[in-house]
Amino acid sequence: MHLIPIPAFSDNYIWALHDGQRALVVDPGEANGVARWLEQQGLRLDTILITHHHADHTGGVAELREATGARVIGPIVEPMPEPLQRVGEGETVEVLGLRFDVIEVPGHTAGHIAYYTPDMDGTPLLFCGDTLFSGGCGRLFEGTPAQMLNSLTRLAALPAATRVCCTHEYTLSNLKFAQAVEPGNADLLAYIERCKAQRAQNFPTLPSSIGLEKHINPFLRTREPAVVRSALAHEPGTTDDEVAVFATLREWKNVFK
Ligand SMILES: [Zn+2]
Ligand SMILES: [Zn+2]
Repeated sequence: MHLIPIPAFSDNYIWALHDGQRALVVDPGEANGVARWLEQQGLRLDTILITHHHADHTGGVAELREATGARVIGPIVEPMPEPLQRVGEGETVEVLGLRFDVIEVPGHTAGHIAYYTPDMDGTPLLFCGDTLFSGGCGRLFEGTPAQMLNSLTRLAALPAATRVCCTHEYTLSNLKFAQAVEPGNADLLAYIERCKAQRAQNFPTLPSSIGLEKHINPFLRTREPAVVRSALAHEPGTTDDEVAVFATLREWKNVFK
C-alpha cells in the first residue's frame, strides 16, 4: 500500500492511498490534481473519505464522483455533497481491504470525524482532517474548547506509532507558536530544525506521528507544567484547569504572529 500527499491550493494535502490498482483519497478540495494523479499512476478511484464540510475539503468531491463513480463516505451531521454514505462514532468502513474506525472529533466543526486504521502494512494510520495539525490544532469554528480538548485527547490516546495525516502544511508556523509556549522543550527545537530542512526542499513535514506530537504539540500538552505556566502568564486571570489552559492557548494562537 502506498501513502501519498497530493498538494492542493496553497497549503492543503489531499491524502491518497493506493494498492497499485485502486485508490482512496481523503478530503479532495479540488478535483484536477487528483484526476491528473490517477491518470499518471493508472489508478481507479475506489473511495473518497470526507472529514468535515469546509469547501477546501469537499470542493472536488462531486466532480471526482461523476468522473470515476467512486463511493463517497462522510460525517453524519454536516452539510455534504450528496449522495454519500454517512458514518458516525463507532462505525467502521472497509476500503481497499483496510478497516477504518470512525472517531467523532467535534471542535473545528460540529460533526468533524477522523478515520483510523490500526494496521496499514503493519503501522496504524490516522486521517484527522483539520482537528490535529503537526504542532497545532484546528480553529474552533463550531465547537467549544472542552469539545476540542476531548477530541484531541482521544486522538492522543492512539498508539505512538500512528502516522498522522493532517490536511494542511501549517507545521512551521505552528512550531513558532509552540516555541513561544515552551521555549525550553529540546524535542521541539530539534523538530523545528528538521521541519525547516524539509520545507527548504519543498518536502512535506507530514505525516507526523502521535508519539512525536505528544512531545512537541502544546495543544496535547495542556497538563505539562511548562505549558500551564506559559498559559497562566499569558492570561493571569485563569486557572490551571486543563480546559482553561487549552482555551488560553487556542485564543493566544489565533492572534499570534
Ligand atoms: Zn476546516
Ligand atoms: Zn482545511
